[in-house]
This record gives sequence, structure tokens and C-alpha cells, in this order.
Amino acid sequence: MVVFLNSSIMKKLLFILVALSIVNCQLSIAQKVVCHRGFWETEGSAQNSISSLVKADSIHAFGSEFDVWMTADGELVVNHDKVFHGVNMETSTFEEVRAITLNNGEKLPTLDEYLAKGKQLGVRLVLEMKSLSDFNREDECAAKIVRKLKHYGVLDRTDIIAFSINACLAFKKLLPDTKIYYLDNDYTPRKLKSLGLAGLDYEQNVLRQHPDWVKEAHDLGLEVNVWTVNDPEALQYFIDLGVDYITTNNPVKLQELLK
Ligand code: MG
Repeated sequence: MVVFLNSSIMKKLLFILVALSIVNCQLSIAQKVVCHRGFWETEGSAQNSISSLVKADSIHAFGSEFDVWMTADGELVVNHDKVFHGVNMETSTFEEVRAITLNNGEKLPTLDEYLAKGKQLGVRLVLEMKSLSDFNREDECAAKIVRKLKHYGVLDRTDIIAFSINACLAFKKLLPDTKIYYLDNDYTPRKLKSLGLAGLDYEQNVLRQHPDWVKEAHDLGLEVNVWTVNDPEALQYFIDLGVDYITTNNPVKLQELLK
């Protein structure tokens, strides 16, 4: 009888362990949702606004992506377009850039404001440094960004992305342990591995042309992010392809598909 009970219990335990391992396996391959320029396709939000960061956090997205420029007088601001509301982010002063009002009524945010708010939230910060007019300015901008990340104590909650390989390598030198991903589509996973970067963050059509890069990256210990995927069929394609992160303007739909 004792033997029978033990055997029965053992079977139940085995079943539970198998079930847990399946759940764990499913969790480990589930894509992480990154809101592109924050979660902005919702009431009261705007791209790269503080609200878009708060709203990305409120839907429990894994990450919230945002773009950083350095003004002519060396201040760091959060915005996507190089020229926005007629103001050039790189050649204008901070005062000129700061005068811009976003569609939701917020002032165009500073990086300080963004990080101060990000520090209070749980969502991961995915910081894109925009390519600047020369490498010296990029190096200066990267160094300033690193100082800010350290000042606000969010370094361990931040991933860095950039189209400029110069910027990626500048960050890599300053932050050897931070994940830095390259955006500009033209390097193979092997090349990125040789540069010490964390992985590729490529436009969706590039990864459709090179689906093999996902496995190649994973075999090298790199990660793969894809941008900017909004259409449900395309979201499902990249879920099935097994990328690690999907950057989207449609985070709620992606979360539904992942369920
Ligand atoms: Mg961006």
C-alpha cells in the first residue's frame, strides 16, 4: 500500500514537473513587447511623450522605446524626427527645441524628465540615440547619455540601440556590460558578435529576407529584435520566427496574440 501511494504521488509529481517545464518553456520563448516611441496610439498620448512611457508601463509592456537627440548647445531631448514642427533637433538651441508642444499638450521632453519618470516605473527603457552629424558629436552625446543613466540609477533597466555603428561602439566602450543593439540592417550576426554587441534590431523586411539570421544570432548567443511590426499577420510571422523582441505601435494586439 505504501509502495502504491508513493508510486501514485510520484506520478502526480512527475506530471506537475512536466506541466511546469512546458509552461516555463512557453514563457522562455514568448516574445517581449516593446512599444515603439512609447504607447502612443491611445487617448492622451503622443509619440515620445512622458505619457507614452507611462502608458507603456500601464499595459505591462516589457519595454518602451524612445529617441534621443543632442541640441546645438549640447542638451539631450527626446524626440524622433530630426526636424519637428520646423525645428531641427541638432542645429537648434535647447530653448528653441523646448518651446515645441507635443500633440497631447506636453512640452517636448528632456532626457532628464524621461529618465526621472522611467525610474518610477517598471517598464524597461529602450533608448535609441539618433545618428548625429559627426562622430565627435556622437561620442559626446553617448558620454552624456551614460552620465544621465548613471545619475538616475537606471542603467540596469536600460537597453541601448543605434543606427550609427560609431555610437554603438562608443557606448560599448563606456558600458561594457550594457546590452547594445545595432539598427542599421547591414551587419550579419557574426559581425555583430565580433564587435561585442548584444544583437540585431532590424527592420522587418530585412529579417524576412534573412530569416536564418534569427537562428544564427541565437547560436552565437545574440538576441534579435524586429521593428516596427504592427499588422497582426506580420506580428504572428515574427512570433513564429522566434525573435526575442518585437517593437510595435500595436502593443495591445501583440499581447493578445501572445496569449
Ligand atoms: Mg527609434
